[in-house]
Amino acid sequence: MGTSTTTDVAVIGAGAAGIAAARRLQELGLSCQVLEARNRPGGRAWTETATLGVALDRGCAWLHDAERNPLRACAEAAGLGWPTAVPIRGHRQGAFGSAAANAALEARVDEGLRALVERAGAEPDQPTASLLAGDPVHGAFLRYVVTAISGAEPETYSSGDAAEEDAFESNWLVTGGLGRLISEDLAADLPIQLGTTVQTVDFRRRAIRLDTSAGWMRTDAVIVTAPVGVLADGRPGFRPALPSWKTDAFEAVAMGRAEKVALRFRGRPFGDDLPHFLTIERPTGLLGFHIEPGPPAVAIAYAGGELAAAIADMGEDEAVAMAMDYLAHAYGDALRDQLAASTATAWARDAWALGSYSAAHPGAHGRRRALAAPVADRVRFAGEATLPDAFATAHGAWLSGRREAEAVAAVLGAATLPTPFASG
Ligand SMILES: Cc1cc2nc3c(=O)[nH]c(=O)nc-3n(C[C@H](O)[C@H](O)[C@H](O)COP(=O)(O)OP(=O)(O)OC[C@H]3O[C@@H](n4cnc5c(N)ncnc54)[C@H](O)[C@@H]3O)c2cc1C
Repeated sequence: MGTSTTTDVAVIGAGAAGIAAARRLQELGLSCQVLEARNRPGGRAWTETATLGVALDRGCAWLHDAERNPLRACAEAAGLGWPTAVPIRGHRQGAFGSAAANAALEARVDEGLRALVERAGAEPDQPTASLLAGDPVHGAFLRYVVTAISGAEPETYSSGDAAEEDAFESNWLVTGGLGRLISEDLAADLPIQLGTTVQTVDFRRRAIRLDTSAGWMRTDAVIVTAPVGVLADGRPGFRPALPSWKTDAFEAVAMGRAEKVALRFRGRPFGDDLPHFLTIERPTGLLGFHIEPGPPAVAIAYAGGELAAAIADMGEDEAVAMAMDYLAHAYGDALRDQLAASTATAWARDAWALGSYSAAHPGAHGRRRALAAPVADRVRFAGEATLPDAFATAHGAWLSGRREAEAVAAVLGAATLPTPFASG
């Protein structure tokens, strides 16, 4: 890239939103260039096999609201299958739940989430904590689920967000990884320039100028998909400065905290069981694990809110030891000798994410509209945080990228008319 580079549209970020935007822009006949700071596409959609020796989604893994999820059709088109929903099980007071107890637990969680969504939809935006039922057993369980899904403690999480949460609906897994689907299958053949940080977006003149770590370029329009945490950190910079209605929204809809600790074991410590989601209760609190009995046998802990913040702070070894203590509590200390490989995420310390996914503060759900709003028509914003529903998800990011590509095409007067949001 140099002084003479021009493109109809520059897309900042090659996550799900940027990839979707680039695909849609191409369909609409516009030239585009995707600029990505990392040395890999996908952003928070990242499947890797290096650490465990099996596919691990370090970011998004589940197709939330699976029946209606637009990425489901993409997975189908890419020839990828998926198992259906993973059942929930509990380990409480030192014992695995019976089949009946697990069924009751799952029903209670469904019921609790449904009641929460209903109340949240009917009442003004407030801390989600004030709408959670007080039942000490299922209350703790529900609290764990809501915190893990939202990435925020219910006291600091907008009930307006909770009312629209897609992840409360059916959740399916994609064979080979949701990250892989997005960063490989769906990003194939797109003009993505990796290792290129956009430092400044200068939109003072008709031709927008981007200064990047690899030179500068001109473009007629730009779609910014950086996560809100990164935008709040002032990256990229804008000339003129963004209006306060925009920058205030970066703070009001902040990044939540969610982290994973993944462990692979030798042998078959979880028996011949089917994949399931096991919550283990200890005096220190409750932690949930996606268990793949294998072989290879894998357990992936999922933590949200303060526990996730602690995991990112404590570092990998301590995080693995903490998750192992939970598993050993349920499966016995012999399990420790079967540990073959392990890792922990630290999205909160990732400079290009600074958190897991957006979680509006109480009262701030409506500010997502400000996140989505363009500045001067040709400076547009996509990314998971910009949707009033489907935020904090891969498919939400996907839909936002398509939305902004279509809006840019309308502004630039592209010949092709946008089609409604649909699969692909
Ligand atoms: C632990 C975890 C678990 C999750 N689980 C699920 C799940 O199961 N299901 C689900 O649907 N969703 C899940 N999500 C959320 C999902 O991953 C995200 O919502 C989605 O991937 C966000 O896509 P995006 O394009 O909006 O942002 P990103 O993927 O973050 O993409 C933005 C890109 O912009 C780049 N960038 C930023 N600033 C610049 C700059 N100045 N110059 C150049 N490039 C820049 C970044 O490097 C990044 O690659 C999870 C996320 C995490 C972290």
